[in-house]
Amino acid sequence: MTLKGARERWVRTGGIELCVAELGDPEQPTVVLVHGYPDSKEVWSEVAVRLADRFHVVLYDVRGHGRSSAPKPLRGGFTLAKLTDDFLAVVDAVSPDRPVHLVGHDWGSVQSWEFATTGRTEGRIASFTSMSGPSLDHFGHWINARVKRPTPRRVGQLLGQGAKSWYVYMLHTPVLPELAWRGPLGKRWPKILQRIEKVPAGDYPTPSLPTDAAHGAWLYRDNVRVRLLHPRPDAHAHAPVQLITPEGDAFLSERLYDDLEQWVPRLTRRTIPAKHWVPRTRPDQLADWIEEFVTTVEGGRTEVKATGRHAERFGGQLVLVTGAGSGIGRATAFAFAEAGARVVAVDRDAEAATRTAELARLVGAAGAWAETADVSDEQAMEKLAEKVHRDHGVVDVLVNNAGIGLSGSFFTTTTEDWRTVLDVNLWGVIHGCRLFGARMAERGQGGHIVNIASAAAYQPSRALPAYSTSKAAVLMLSECLRAELASQDIGVTAVCPGFVNTNITSTARFTGVDEEEARRRQKRSAHLYGLRNYPPEKVADAILDAVVRNVAVAPVTPEARGAHFMSRYMPGALRRIARVEPRL
Ligand code: NAP
Repeated sequence: MTLKGARERWVRTGGIELCVAELGDPEQPTVVLVHGYPDSKEVWSEVAVRLADRFHVVLYDVRGHGRSSAPKPLRGGFTLAKLTDDFLAVVDAVSPDRPVHLVGHDWGSVQSWEFATTGRTEGRIASFTSMSGPSLDHFGHWINARVKRPTPRRVGQLLGQGAKSWYVYMLHTPVLPELAWRGPLGKRWPKILQRIEKVPAGDYPTPSLPTDAAHGAWLYRDNVRVRLLHPRPDAHAHAPVQLITPEGDAFLSERLYDDLEQWVPRLTRRTIPAKHWVPRTRPDQLADWIEEFVTTVEGGRTEVKATGRHAERFGGQLVLVTGAGSGIGRATAFAFAEAGARVVAVDRDAEAATRTAELARLVGAAGAWAETADVSDEQAMEKLAEKVHRDHGVVDVLVNNAGIGLSGSFFTTTTEDWRTVLDVNLWGVIHGCRLFGARMAERGQGGHIVNIASAAAYQPSRALPAYSTSKAAVLMLSECLRAELASQDIGVTAVCPGFVNTNITSTARFTGVDEEEARRRQKRSAHLYGLRNYPPEKVADAILDAVVRNVAVAPVTPEARGAHFMSRYMPGALRRIARVEPRL
């Protein structure tokens, strides 16, 4: 099997023939992608094609894998020293005059850590992007630190990683892994990857899988025990490193990288809500991050630093915010932008959405786009979801924020008023959850949905029957959806702000009064909200925190938190307050 459009060559090293594929312009910076276990270079195909229009992309089958030949005998043929020889032979062939940007996944990352920390390769590596594969030396020191200075937390970390490493022990048993891979496991593996890892079906894994997996067992046997017992004391990276940590990795604990700064002075951290096989499940995101990192390093800087809060968590993620043209929506788009996310700002007001996207780019978004849609219009939302999916991929964080205010007693609220409020405040949220949530669930790599409800969701009021009903429905919808999506690692949060100083006061409608009185009330409520002066930026911060902590219900302002407490423990008092007629 060859990579579409790739040029192939063979590189000889120590009696081994390595199959090397190249894409893109050799004059551009070279990015070398190293595959893991049990894989061949084709694991990278989706990432490689995305990088090929900017870079010279090089992939090779690690010895004993894919179309590269295997050492004879196998035992002792896969040591890190020999893998380093192979790497140097490949880069000497494809980029003799310029250091390369190295990218490794799984065992490709484990061996790349060796390349990036050994003196032999100094000057040949411009940067290293690591995912799902730690340095065996760092891992060894990590274990030693926990064994020598145990605390309950550290012992828990050791046991946690110990349990995740079950397959490493299995691979150390003689013959059995080879029999399993050449037999039933090899046949079932593609289906297992689809079911558990949600790797899309297609032409991966390649037919060489059983042999790759049988040979690759020696990667573990030749290296793991010896290095974990005797980690090198000087395994410092001589190139800047970008670490991408999938949060749902079944084989590696995030805690493994806690001490990494001591080994890597120039470190950029990213986390991604995904499982282990990110090159197959998240190629868009990885290609973006690799491109950004390589471009940054080529530009003379060594770290990609988004400055906003939670930059590590949201950097590069695709975040869609509705009602992003104003108030809480705009502030939320900016907060995600400051964290380096890619932001889609949606509003029914095209100009306002465009302005938000422009400013989002200025404050640090990895990309920002404006879209115009009325959230209550099902067809418009369907078109939006298709377009966003086609142009940018699956949304990682959806913020259903667009909403409108309506004030007035039940009997002055017409059925038309009810429809308008429910169409935007409830149906807008339903459309968003249904269309973007379905794609998130289908992708199978987790995500988060934030629905902006209100303290009015649990605080009754005689003045807001329609608005409060719409928000109570949003709160319950969020709870139900949270229960349904929990097994798919998709969090759902209902955010409940109290009084926030935004434009909503000047656009909210009042029923049962003439236009002049409505205008007077609008002015008065805008004045009161102005006096309260709770900024939408604080709500945006609370939204990012709520996603990080995956909370179910997030009351934001002190009055929203107070009312939430009362609704649970003093509902009678809240009901009495609900009877008070607001004086506007
Ligand atoms: P805002 O400043 O008026 O912003 C809302 C944005 O949503 C506006 O740009 C608005 O566009 C847009 N929008 C309205 N209907 C839309 C639709 N059908 N399709 C697409 N976009 C639409 O209000 P905000 O205070 O930031 O409110 C944001 C959310 O927070 C709402 O859900 C609101 O109910 C909720 N909330 C606000 C407060 C508060 O005190 N501000 C408190 C609790 C909850 P237009 O300007 O063209 O209408």
